[in-house]
Amino acid sequence: MNPILPGGVIGILGGGQLGRMSTFKAKQLGYKVVVLDPTPGCPCGQVVDEQIVASFDDELALRQLAEKCEVITYEFENVDSRAVELLEQLGRKVFPDSQALKISQNRWAEKEFLRRSGVGVADFFKVASLADLETAMQQIGFPGLLKTATGGYDGKGQVVLYNEDDARQAFATLNHPALIWEKKVTFVKELSVICGRNQAGEIVTYPAVENIHVENILDMSLAPAEAPAHVQAEAQHIARTIAEQLKLVGVCGVEMFLLPDETILVNEIAPRPHNSGHYTLEACLCSQFEQHIRAICGLPLGSTDLKGYAVMVNILGTGAGNRLAGLEQVLQNSQLAVHLYGKSSAAARRKMGHLTALSPHSLAEARGWALEARAKLKWV
Ligand code: AMP
Repeated sequence: MNPILPGGVIGILGGGQLGRMSTFKAKQLGYKVVVLDPTPGCPCGQVVDEQIVASFDDELALRQLAEKCEVITYEFENVDSRAVELLEQLGRKVFPDSQALKISQNRWAEKEFLRRSGVGVADFFKVASLADLETAMQQIGFPGLLKTATGGYDGKGQVVLYNEDDARQAFATLNHPALIWEKKVTFVKELSVICGRNQAGEIVTYPAVENIHVENILDMSLAPAEAPAHVQAEAQHIARTIAEQLKLVGVCGVEMFLLPDETILVNEIAPRPHNSGHYTLEACLCSQFEQHIRAICGLPLGSTDLKGYAVMVNILGTGAGNRLAGLEQVLQNSQLAVHLYGKSSAAARRKMGHLTALSPHSLAEARGWALEARAKLKWV
């Protein structure tokens, strides 16, 4: 395919921070951006050339988007796949395609895809009835996790199971027609790899990073993950395999568990820029956002080499206020970059921004700087 020439228009479904940061890079390369999102002035809406304010299932709005744009992408995977299919039927290229989106939206389809691709996953069993639940108890056993197959995020829609009572209670509470029982694995680290693939089949992988979650929300990513070289290589190989099997065009975040025996299991995939790849904005010549734009526009991919040790921490809302105090103290450290997403309400636990520390010396130094900086910030 011929590349989309600068001046061309990129469409984005979803107007959150991922769309916003992708837009900055699209504009750096000379593209125009139109976003479709129901909230006027959403983080991405603030920085695009045009926002179509409509819900994602508004057919008229989707047709408008298709008319205005040469290529369309999405920035969160809970956008209705029928919207993406409609855009495809209208003859628009959507990257990643509706197939990749559908796989990532449903934990059944995702786990089966991963298994088919020859990638390790925790043992799982599909649960659509009480009878399935009983079978899962026997076949997969405890400790387990019961997750809704669709719609869950940031730990919502999942329950840890230690015994049969837990299992039956979780089944009743989740009250969902499609569930998945997964073996709860013991891991030493959670890792992720961001992978990019373009239409020519060129693939790049960023280094595996270690992710630390607090109450199921990503709190910190450490790049590169402290792991032996062969573990790094294996994690990147897995991400590459997934990108090939998905026929991915764009970037994809692959979340993994590193087990005590160095086995790597894949937890889930997100066919879009990923929170654990935000550090690439400062730590790599070509960030995950630029990589995504290059890939969907048919351009060659960029360098994923690290410029130093990078630690990213998320800045969450607290509910105490919507203005952030302390930035002037944080920026006294010249090795820090702060990104705020322009959200008007800093509700408790809402992702409002992130900061990245880059150290030429060590992860420990970068981590110290990042934590010290975040502690100076306060919602007022
Ligand atoms: P998820 O919504 O699948 O990303 O899960 C949220 C978090 O729950 C993960 O980041 C892990 O910390 C934990 N988790 C999910 N699945 C498993 C599993 N099979 N075994 C152990 N921990 C898990």
